[in-house]
Amino acid sequence: LREEEAISPDELSAAQRRELLAKASNHTFQTEVNRMMKLIINSLYRNKEIFLRELISNASDALDKIRLMSLTDPGVLAASSELGIRIKADAARRLLSISDSGLGMTRHDLVNNLGTIANYPLERRARFDAGRSRSPRLLQSGGQEMNDMIGQFGVGFYSAFLVADKVTVVSKHNDDDQHVWESDASSFSVAPDPRGNTLARGTHITLHLKEEAADYLQPDTIRALVKKYSQFINFPIYLWAART
Ligand code: ADP
Ligand code: MG
Repeated sequence: LREEEAISPDELSAAQRRELLAKASNHTFQTEVNRMMKLIINSLYRNKEIFLRELISNASDALDKIRLMSLTDPGVLAASSELGIRIKADAARRLLSISDSGLGMTRHDLVNNLGTIANYPLERRARFDAGRSRSPRLLQSGGQEMNDMIGQFGVGFYSAFLVADKVTVVSKHNDDDQHVWESDASSFSVAPDPRGNTLARGTHITLHLKEEAADYLQPDTIRALVKKYSQFINFPIYLWAART
């Protein structure tokens, strides 16, 4: 984990926020996503820290995808050839962001990949429903059985809501203009970014951390988590945090 100087602030001005709201389309999460979020919140409340592993793993997957594509079509790296992951902690505003210069997501991808559980297999759905009916007991007993269940279904992106009450995803894919996805876990919105294409390519996820999750803004905490869960990631991980 290397420390890096600056990643420019990415907040919207009041006028830009108005434009975003005016152009946003609103969506509800697929039923399975709502169930998954409940299951995650109920079973992992003692293990919130795994959100960082999940977001870094998604960043790494997106970087793998663009790198693989570049082997047959080097042009896909034209916007940016740098492949890396950046973590930024803004303690004053209680914002933690994880960004990557990977594949990125089109508007269509944002709605589908971050609103449904893609290609949710029927057999997995059956297992999920079976687990759901057992969950009241599992919630009381907790422990290994619940861990196994989460292991089967995967935790993934939605674990961000373990520590954040609002999540903003800004993404730029080679095939589309930059879009902003936002959610408070109950529903989500997608809009063209009023700032234009500020990312060359990739995804910038901002977590609006819950008050009790403020410890994840500490550089030492972030470093320890990256070491614990993400030490074998094949891309450089940079950390930027304002000195206190
Ligand atoms: P999984 O990683 O198992 O597919 P996740 O819930 O972690 O499930 O992520 C859901 C999907 O959202 C991913 O499959 C991917 O298509 C998309 N996604 C999430 N994070 C990123 C990212 N940083 N860049 C590009 N796509 C992403
Ligand atoms: Mg994932």
